[in-house]
Amino acid sequence: MEFERVKHKVIDSHLHIEAWENKDGVSFIDGFDEYIENMGLHAVNIASLPSGKERNVSNNIMIAFYKLAHKNAFAHGGLIYNEYPAPDKMPEGMDFVTQYKELMEIGFDGMKMLEGKPSLHKLVGKDLSCDLFDPFFAELEKDGTHLIFHVNDPEEFWSPALATKEMIERGWSYADGTYASNEEVYRQINRVLEKHPNLCVNFAHFFFYSYHPEILDELFSKYPNMGVDITPGGEMYTAFDNNREYYKEFFTKYSKRIQLGTDTTFPYPTHDFCWLMDRVYRYLATDDEFQGFADRVNKGMKLPNETIEDIVYKNFERTVGKKPREINKTALKAYIEKYRCLMSEEENERVDALCKRYL
Ligand SMILES: [Zn+2]
Repeated sequence: MEFERVKHKVIDSHLHIEAWENKDGVSFIDGFDEYIENMGLHAVNIASLPSGKERNVSNNIMIAFYKLAHKNAFAHGGLIYNEYPAPDKMPEGMDFVTQYKELMEIGFDGMKMLEGKPSLHKLVGKDLSCDLFDPFFAELEKDGTHLIFHVNDPEEFWSPALATKEMIERGWSYADGTYASNEEVYRQINRVLEKHPNLCVNFAHFFFYSYHPEILDELFSKYPNMGVDITPGGEMYTAFDNNREYYKEFFTKYSKRIQLGTDTTFPYPTHDFCWLMDRVYRYLATDDEFQGFADRVNKGMKLPNETIEDIVYKNFERTVGKKPREINKTALKAYIEKYRCLMSEEENERVDALCKRYL
């Protein structure tokens, strides 16, 4: 393997599953195991993405099975929708507080939301601070349950001047006027934070504020349980590099607010997972120069050891837990029965095969 194993205890706080197996027929379970083993990770946290046109409840279910297969796997569950745009009120028994409680009963360790990403935000068609979500945020705040929240995207995605054909095809351009503006989405999430100031939330990808860290300064001072992750977004590392000394201090000052993640997504090859971890970890822990993000050479920050430890595992343990919660098989079975109507026939068969093996 061309990558060295990490030299700290490391928890990758931000991974996803998008397929049952990769092109070589390796299952998502074996794929993640290989990544953990190759890089010498202490644990991983898989963040579910069950909402969106091509996605459904099977993502929550797969992740629950990964927790059964791997004792050091944490998981953040996601909300599901009966239709898009979302109704003003979810059908009886599917409201978000009920869904959240079901997932926690199964043994999820936190919640993940992608609803602030402009494409899903548009599909769901709801203000993040509206009454559909509010009781759910209130419940998370009351329980101190950790939320990983993807809100917005890099600012240039809204720029008509920068919208290339490739960006448009990849869904990375919001310049056609049908998406909420970046400012509007921030206004909505600010209202959520004002209503729920103690929400234990980590905004993914540095909250897309790597070019405006002064806003994070202000938010950190207002909201004691709010943090960000440094999951790439290569643009973020360019911003750090451009402002190196400032960011070294920022990372040290706010070491309790920052978590490591890679966005490693199965079924990409294990090599890609390891590349991401190698780059993010070396950026924090070494002063190596390496071919890094956004086709640039990055130079590691070599932060103080306590700062590194906070970022690579301690904050995760403090906000989510030291050990993954155990899967309650009865609750998982009930969840599968309740929602299997939302999965395809093929997905049902695959879930049944996992039930046979693990339940
Ligand atoms: Zn992600």
